[in-house]
Amino acid sequence: MPIVMPIADGVNSYIADYSHSRPDIEVRCPNCNGKMGPWSRYHRHPRTRGGRRRVPIYRWRCPKCKKTRGVLPDFLAPYLHHVTEVRESCIRSYSEGATIEEAAEEAGVDVRTVCRWVAHARRVLGGVVSLVSNLVAELTTMVTWPKVKAEGTRGLMLLLFDLGDILCGATVTCGSPGVFPRVNSSNLHYL
Ligand SMILES: [Zn+2]
Repeated sequence: MPIVMPIADGVNSYIADYSHSRPDIEVRCPNCNGKMGPWSRYHRHPRTRGGRRRVPIYRWRCPKCKKTRGVLPDFLAPYLHHVTEVRESCIRSYSEGATIEEAAEEAGVDVRTVCRWVAHARRVLGGVVSLVSNLVAELTTMVTWPKVKAEGTRGLMLLLFDLGDILCGATVTCGSPGVFPRVNSSNLHYL
């Protein structure tokens, strides 16, 4: 399973900076926490709003465990074909009251794909909300906790975006904008 890390502020800058050279980042082994060394690379071809892009994915290898891991920039998630930004905008529209069909049309994505995204989000939502709540609670700034605005799945999704917006507004990363890239970089849950 690849590791998601905040490396670039989006697909364009990642391709511009790392098509020919490996990002200068420290990668720790998920198994032993040892420092991993550079290894090979492969390519992924994620779907963006503007069509498919060719994205180099660099691998690192743990000298102790002898295991290799690809490192995905946080606009990608393991095993998912669209860039994260498209999924986030779909789920956001859905949480705000759009039907799955409307959210799919707006993003130019197949309805069945959005159905899968919503079903998956529903499964991990409890864990994700508590993860982002903890991150917000760790902030040193004063936080006004958002109110739950609706019942059920949509209410939890809205809460996630409210919490995520607080987190993104109060902290800076070198990663892609949005709530989902932050969640995915935790490598605990993927949205
Ligand atoms: Zn290791």
